[in-house]
Amino acid sequence: MEIAVLDGIKADDYPPIELVCPRCDATVMQRFAGPCEACFVVLRREFAAVAQAVEKTEYVPKMNVTPNAVALKDD
Ligand SMILES: [Zn+2]
Repeated sequence: MEIAVLDGIKADDYPPIELVCPRCDATVMQRFAGPCEACFVVLRREFAAVAQAVEKTEYVPKMNVTPNAVALKDD
């Protein structure tokens, strides 16, 4: 069985390192680069996407071309 890439990554292989939060410039110890824990919470709260129902509109093809006289000609 093939092992997915993420299955082969163990979080424990990446100990927390000193990083600077790109948002508040605080020096924090964390595994991966990105916002610190405090900023993460704020960003999640402010920018969390909310699922909403979208009404589907029926596709009506637009007629851009008028049939030419040859195509309409009766035989
Ligand atoms: Zn921060």
